[in-house]
Amino acid sequence: MYSTTLKNFRDIDVHIMRPRGFLERETEWARESYQKVVDGSGFTDVKNCPVCKGEIRSVLFSKFTIDICRCSACGHGYASQVPANVSDVYSDANYLDQSLEATNSEAEYRKKRFYDERVTLIKQFCDGNRLLDVGCGTGLFLEVAKKQGFEVYGQELGKGMAEWTRTTFSIPVWDEPVEQIDTGVRFDAITIFDVIEHVTDPVMFVLAVKRLLADNGVIIVLTPNLDSCALSIMKEKSQIVCPPSHLQYFTMASMKEMARRTDLALEYLVTNGIDLADMKAYYDLVHEDCLARACEHLYQMLQPVVDAANSGNHFKAVFRKNGQG
Ligand SMILES: [Zn+2]
Repeated sequence: MYSTTLKNFRDIDVHIMRPRGFLERETEWARESYQKVVDGSGFTDVKNCPVCKGEIRSVLFSKFTIDICRCSACGHGYASQVPANVSDVYSDANYLDQSLEATNSEAEYRKKRFYDERVTLIKQFCDGNRLLDVGCGTGLFLEVAKKQGFEVYGQELGKGMAEWTRTTFSIPVWDEPVEQIDTGVRFDAITIFDVIEHVTDPVMFVLAVKRLLADNGVIIVLTPNLDSCALSIMKEKSQIVCPPSHLQYFTMASMKEMARRTDLALEYLVTNGIDLADMKAYYDLVHEDCLARACEHLYQMLQPVVDAANSGNHFKAVFRKNGQG
């Protein structure tokens, strides 16, 4: 397993992905989102696990007065409070500007390093070419997929970003929730990259997405791993732990439970992380300079080990809709 992981391993540029001040900035954005909910419609308590509906849980850590709990039955992590109105988090008029700023400075690097790899993964599991990207943001991934021959569509709740993607890349984009998309089009592949952790009911969300899938089509999910190496060290200091933006924190077990609840076949589940880069950012933050340097120098050697141990900080999962499903 390690040798396969090592063979397929691709290095990253730690300085582009985790520049100095990265964690401070991420924490500031998360705090602003929290404040928007406080000033808006406030929070609602979550009593049951959003994946398996179990009631028994333990508190892992807290951030901005919100507990992150772990379900005792399926291991899923979730926020104990969610926004009463999720649009409070995403209502900011500057959201498009912020997203463009966040993506543009590193857009070319991201496209080359990550998006080609994602297109390759889709082709590995999908023969068809009709692709929907849920939460497509400013459309950079769709632009890459389109160039590689996919017939692409997007969905994006941020109306400014949806319009940007429509006009900049001539891609059809729905700006309503996936539950409300009413179309005869069925997709061979639906990608959900860094989106499912934002929703209040991940099972209902995946079922709504599944409705748009062609028979034998695939849903490809990328989402943070609660049991990752970096998160186990950084805990609430991790940029991944950011309620009320991130409400769901998946584990290997809760991914499998999700497949069962949605009657999808989980064909592929691996972790791919940049844990060592996150840990470098963390040790920068707490002024442990030797450790920060060690993480940077040992990145290429240790990250494949972390990935092979299913401890990378992101999951890549492929779910397939079989038959009439
Ligand atoms: Zn559960």
